[in-house]
Amino acid sequence: MSGPILVVGGGIGGLSAALALGLKGIPVRVLEGAPEFGAIGYGIQLGPNVFPMFEKLGLTEAVLQKSILPDACVMLDAFTGDEITRVPTQQSLRERFGHPYIVIHRIDLHNALLDACRKVGAIELVPEAQVTAYEDRGDAVTVSTADGRAYSGPALIGADGLRSIVRAKIVGDGEPRPIGYVAHRTIVPMTQLPEGVQTNVVVLWAGPGFHIVHYPLRDHSLFNIVAVFKTATYDKKGDLASYRAEIDRTYANAHPAMKGLLDMMDLDRRWTIGDRDPIRHWAKGRVTVLGDAAHPTLQTFAQGACMAIEDGVTLGEYIASSLDDIPAALSGFARARYLRTARIQLESRRVWGDYHAEGVARDVMMQAYREMSEADVFRCLAWIYDGAELPDSGRPRNLKRAAG
Ligand SMILES: Cc1cc2nc3c(=O)[nH]c(=O)nc-3n(C[C@H](O)[C@H](O)[C@H](O)COP(=O)(O)OP(=O)(O)OC[C@H]3O[C@@H](n4cnc5c(N)ncnc54)[C@H](O)[C@@H]3O)c2cc1C
Repeated sequence: MSGPILVVGGGIGGLSAALALGLKGIPVRVLEGAPEFGAIGYGIQLGPNVFPMFEKLGLTEAVLQKSILPDACVMLDAFTGDEITRVPTQQSLRERFGHPYIVIHRIDLHNALLDACRKVGAIELVPEAQVTAYEDRGDAVTVSTADGRAYSGPALIGADGLRSIVRAKIVGDGEPRPIGYVAHRTIVPMTQLPEGVQTNVVVLWAGPGFHIVHYPLRDHSLFNIVAVFKTATYDKKGDLASYRAEIDRTYANAHPAMKGLLDMMDLDRRWTIGDRDPIRHWAKGRVTVLGDAAHPTLQTFAQGACMAIEDGVTLGEYIASSLDDIPAALSGFARARYLRTARIQLESRRVWGDYHAEGVARDVMMQAYREMSEADVFRCLAWIYDGAELPDSGRPRNLKRAAG
């Protein structure tokens, strides 16, 4: 191979791909636009499906050291506080899926990935390298950065997120699709929580057109709160007073514990919630995208980063097994990943509708969710939590099962 493989973007997906390749001795150069490699300072949930990937990357211990294993994920009625449904995340989940469910500070996850990358000689991390263009010349790919540098390599991996410039050239499907919802995120000290907040579980308070998710972080010293709601101003920047007024209106009839949490929220930053339609082909020649650049999803299942990590590891396997035919490796990778990730995207949209249902639809949703047993819940999540097949592990899992 001529030079290192180029990865655009040092987020969770880009670093996972770099580590997967570097551990196989394949040279990689990660070009990150920000002045430093790092993550925004909020929490993240990771399902059991991500652990076989961490094992491949040698990260399991480092990640678990910084994680909390919550007792359950529970959905509460945003008005009464009554439990609608529960996913147990302790022993029964570990027995069923073989791995834990965790919550972790994004900075800690990012640092685990970065530390591991820094120990691998084959990986070069280049900050302040905002990629502005690339060209696939057939025998190699060249990229140029905003400050005039140029790099060349045998393949280009676009791990550059929701507004990927690599995707723009391969797919050209414009801006992401906003769904009219926004998110505000905050981390507060655990000691400052109002009365009546459950602290050892992941809670989703579900209301018509709004929700709040919260969970503990860092040895239960911190508490992560995410408030998400529908608003006509989803694509406009407001000020603190206008954001506060919207929240007061939206959550006017919410449970007092939710209001207590909202009072603690730092409203400086707002994220517009959006995704894209799934696509079949996201690799072309010597270039592919992965993670949010390939299949951005709504947060319904808390699986966007999990999919990015699965992508990174899977891509490492495909490239390692086909170094002399990079285009075949990349198209094999995209083929292997597209159905699973498209299902995440589409099911996330459908279940987002459940979480935020209004009127009779909400009554029906709550009744249906309440009727679900633990076995029902695990059955619904099995297609996600049973995990992804890697190319070296043979036929798809369901065929192996059917064959006994
Ligand atoms: C509110 C919210 C809650 C979420 N909760 C969860 C959760 O609990 N669990 C979960 O699994 N997922 C969750 N997600 C989704 C998850 O955050 C994303 O799916 C994941 O971060 C995608 O990783 P990525 O590496 O593909 O992209 P990104 O994290 O977006 O990383 C892209 C990187 O590329 C860099 N970059 C961009 N353009 C360029 C360029 N031109 N040149 C160089 N560098 C560039 C960026 O600076 C960045 O570092 C959540 C998302 C949101 C919005």
